[in-house]
Formats: sequence, structure tokens, C-alpha cells
Amino acid sequence: MRIPVIGVTPHYEPDNNKLCIASMYLEAILDAGGVPLLLPLKANEEALKTAVSVCDGFLFTGGPDIDPFRFGEETLEECDVVYPDRDQMEETIFNLVIGTGKPVFGICRGIQVLNVFFGGTLFQDIAAQFQRKLNLCHSQKSGRTVLSHSVTIERDSLLYDILQEDTLMVNSFHHQGIKDVAPELNVAARSRDGLVEAVYLRDHPFFLAVQWHPEHLFRVNEGAKKLFTAFVDASR
Ligand code: MN
Repeated sequence: MRIPVIGVTPHYEPDNNKLCIASMYLEAILDAGGVPLLLPLKANEEALKTAVSVCDGFLFTGGPDIDPFRFGEETLEECDVVYPDRDQMEETIFNLVIGTGKPVFGICRGIQVLNVFFGGTLFQDIAAQFQRKLNLCHSQKSGRTVLSHSVTIERDSLLYDILQEDTLMVNSFHHQGIKDVAPELNVAARSRDGLVEAVYLRDHPFFLAVQWHPEHLFRVNEGAKKLFTAFVDASR
């Protein structure tokens, strides 16, 4: 069987001009049988177009807040540091990839940028902006493999097709979240407080994004492992 190459969006630290990535993203792709390739950040569209052409699937990784100007809002006090260069690079990749039908998987910041690129909006800070009856903890203080809240999975969704479960326990490391779901996207899962935790595209070979961090869980959690297996298999 063909070994798929998965383009991975990089984390960027502007203070020391450093690109880096949490190794778990790459380890999870390798474990599922793919070969991860870290994409460049400061590259023009021609270069990114070439990078996109050699990759079979794309992982939009976790990271800092998205610049609120990208979804038409002023920056609130609770918004954290933003890195506009990364926003721009990921939007360029998104625009190059979305018409190809190549598989896309988003994690944490990934679900947020993909929602914004499709025209959706975000809560700049859940605690400050998300009115709810149940104050679920989405910024867990426990370790990366601790499961801290459940998500309820929509029956007729790509996520259900993969997991064959109505609920899944997940970890949670985010202070922002989806406010308005982009028109083209469909909700695949919500937490018990009503927050969107997974979205997907219908009529696409594989376009899925989750708010939790399955890359930290794939060695200990069957549901997390299934997500990476489904993504990498779809990229073959
Ligand atoms: Mn959460």
C-alpha cells in the first residue's frame, strides 16, 4: 500500500525566528503509517503550491490564537498573543488544498483556523464570552493524556463513521472555541455545555477537525488512534 506524505503546519516563535512542532503530531502520523513533512512558514505561494503538490494529506496543528481581525472583530483583552504570519501561511495552504479533495485534519487551533477560513467566527475567550449553564473546564490543568470532558457525537457524521460511538472522552487545552460555525461546515460533536468540539465537510473525501488533542492520546486511547488511522488511510 502507498505510504502517504502528510504536510504538517508548523509552530512559529517570532522572538527567536524559530519553527518547531510538538513531536507527538509526527509520532501519531508515523504510527498510523504516514510520513509527516513539516511545511515551511516563510514561503511564497509558488513554494507552498509545490509543497502542497507533494503532500497527500494536511494536518493543521495546535498553536496560538488567531488574529481576531481575520473574523471581523477587534481584539479583546482576553485574546492571547497572535502570530499573523502563521495565520497567513495557513490560509494560503488552506486555499491551495481545499479544491484538491486531499484529506485535511485539524487539531485545536486547527479547527479554529479552518472554521475562520470558511467564514466562521470564534469566541476569543470562552470564559469571557461563552454564556452557558455548565461551566465545563476546557483549559485543563491535568496532564496531556488525562481525559477531562466528554463530547457527544452526531450520528450522521464523519466522526461517527470513524468511531462508531455516541460519546467520547477527550482532553481539553483551549481557551478559545467556535462561536459561529462556517456555513459550509457541519457540527460533528459538542461538549455538554454546548460548545462545538468537532466539525467536518460533507461531500469531501476526508475533512475533519477536532478541538481536543488526539495526538497526545493515540497510544493510550482507541478513539484517538482511530482518528489518525482514518486520516492517514484516507490520504493513501
Ligand atoms: Mn474542550
